[in-house]
Amino acid sequence: MPGADAPLNGLSVDVEDWFQVGAFEGVIEPGRWESLDCRVERNCDAVLAMLGQAGVKGTFFTLGWVAERYPAMMRRIAAAGHEIASHGWKHDRVFTLGREAFAADIARTRAVLEEVTGEKVNGYRAPSFSIDGRTPWAHEVLAEQGYAYSSSVAPIVHDHYGWREAPRFAFRPVEGADLLEIPVTTAELGSRRFAAGGGGFFRLLPYALSSWAIRRVNLRDGRPAVFYFHPWEIDPGQPRVSSAPLRSRLRHYTNLSVMGAKLRRVLDQQRGMGVAMAEGE
Ligand SMILES: [Zn+2]
Repeated sequence: MPGADAPLNGLSVDVEDWFQVGAFEGVIEPGRWESLDCRVERNCDAVLAMLGQAGVKGTFFTLGWVAERYPAMMRRIAAAGHEIASHGWKHDRVFTLGREAFAADIARTRAVLEEVTGEKVNGYRAPSFSIDGRTPWAHEVLAEQGYAYSSSVAPIVHDHYGWREAPRFAFRPVEGADLLEIPVTTAELGSRRFAAGGGGFFRLLPYALSSWAIRRVNLRDGRPAVFYFHPWEIDPGQPRVSSAPLRSRLRHYTNLSVMGAKLRRVLDQQRGMGVAMAEGE
């Protein structure tokens, strides 16, 4: 992790429950969500305690569905000094929506987030980093609605997502607009590029690899890293979805029990790091 002269890295939390993830979208219909064991509130409180202990501020990209049901939790996050931003209403990937539906989805989400916290929402993260070559209108819609930044692009090739041609670091995707796109962090080794900003890379692989990748971005590229995780990743007690494909289950459930300790290690080494994504670049 960075030394004294390395840039401050941005920390982000994608606030969604265990049944709202892309990996299970084929087996758990949103219509069933209400009947499931909602654990996002207790998990978020655990995340807040962890960040408070480490003295680290972050950005919480939250689903509108979650904010509408847990307004008190949203106010606790904001009161602790973290930034609240949007993760869309119910985790629909942007390329499945089309321009009009996307505009409606983010407007509805923002209205609820701003109503529960009383604070302006400036940032957006697409579910599963789903702004890519198929959605040339998405950044335009974000700019039209006055967002300051988006962190919705993964400039890699991955089986579920990725936009290999996108820049690796912050760029202005709409000519004449101030909107900044801050892609999820990637590291490069030779001709290989991989997502190194958290998620499965951080949880499934050894800690040293993430540490090395973030240091490489900070020192070799001279840029801040954007790190992300989910509240469900620190919850080994969550119900198991046995009907999901084996590959999805392996990805979702591996290392849940060690994630908390791994995160504490990152946070300890990032003590005092900068808050919001927009400040990170
Ligand atoms: Zn998500």
